[in-house]
Amino acid sequence: MTVAVVNIGRSHTGNFAGESLAGDAIVIKDGRIAWIGQTSDVASGDHPQTIDVRGMTVIPGLIDSHVHTTFGDYTPRQNTVGFLESYVHGGTTTSISASEVHVPGRPTDVVGIKALAIAAHHSYRNYFPGGMTVHGGSVILEPGLSDADFVELRQAGVWLAKGGFGAFNSPEEYIPMVHSARKAGIVVMCHSGGGSIPGSMDKIAVDVLLEMNPNIAGHINGGPTSLTPEENARIVSESDEIALQLVHAGNLRSAIDIAEQALQQAQFHRIMIATDTPTGTGVIPLGMLRQMAELCSLGPLTPEQAVSAATGNVSAVYGLEEGLLEVGRPANLVALDAPLGSRADSAFDALAIGDLPAVTMVISRGELRVTRSRNTPAGKRAVALD
Ligand SMILES: [Zn+2]
Repeated sequence: MTVAVVNIGRSHTGNFAGESLAGDAIVIKDGRIAWIGQTSDVASGDHPQTIDVRGMTVIPGLIDSHVHTTFGDYTPRQNTVGFLESYVHGGTTTSISASEVHVPGRPTDVVGIKALAIAAHHSYRNYFPGGMTVHGGSVILEPGLSDADFVELRQAGVWLAKGGFGAFNSPEEYIPMVHSARKAGIVVMCHSGGGSIPGSMDKIAVDVLLEMNPNIAGHINGGPTSLTPEENARIVSESDEIALQLVHAGNLRSAIDIAEQALQQAQFHRIMIATDTPTGTGVIPLGMLRQMAELCSLGPLTPEQAVSAATGNVSAVYGLEEGLLEVGRPANLVALDAPLGSRADSAFDALAIGDLPAVTMVISRGELRVTRSRNTPAGKRAVALD
């Protein structure tokens, strides 16, 4: 089964530099991008399905690196069913678990937290809500986890860990455990800033974050309570490898500060846009697009940089196959347009002025999932199917 996407207008491969596709057409085969070239080279009738995007903008499917998945397409935090499928209508085709901390009665003993992460990881290998790829199973760091436990988890497929919810007496106690998890090949995201929900730690400050040296400073702009401006400056300048995750459910002022400093210090590759949802802040299907529009219209990012921060930068930090429009990569593509009624004429121009682009097509894992988002406004144009 092949699918052709033709007449692409502006495009973005997802990479750090914000490059466009070398062409205006993509052919998908067996769930992957098989060819990139010119629409004039795609003969009608060559493919069982041809999607004419009529000059609209095409980018990689967005990757939300901070989603509190549990099991299935349900969040106990807000008692909402079907939220992941709804996020696909916001252009998100990959979610990365920020730990299954919202599972009711979640265990805190070593056997229980390992079982939880392993079960979540394995269940999302077989389940794609709305076509979304979910990287589930992020082990919650709790006292008692040993080097051997991390090795066992890694062997069972678990490759994510989250620090910040464990029953530790002080944030410093996380430091050796983060190092132990990383040594086993696990990608570690740590909470930063003030506590998120009742029962979590008061604050994880910049000194301890720098010593932990996690792969990712989770919601470095606050989840939802931010660090101080001085700490924001230090996390950018005193590390050159901790990824800086800017979330919609955080502090926007702080996100703008951190983005500005990262750009000034040639650290843009560390910036990732995410939502940190579902949380107390809610279920936000357009959270990725909103964070992108806010950081473009109020903050320093160009629309091209916002797309990189929501796709290719995330791919690089986590070592994912998704997030780039290149031959051989998973076929996760989103078409965007200026929304009806906007003064902008293209998706990127809409982002620049703070309007949410219309999601007019979502392809994930090689299959057409959405032709008109039920969550965004309609676009000025619509795809034509053949
Ligand atoms: Zn979170």
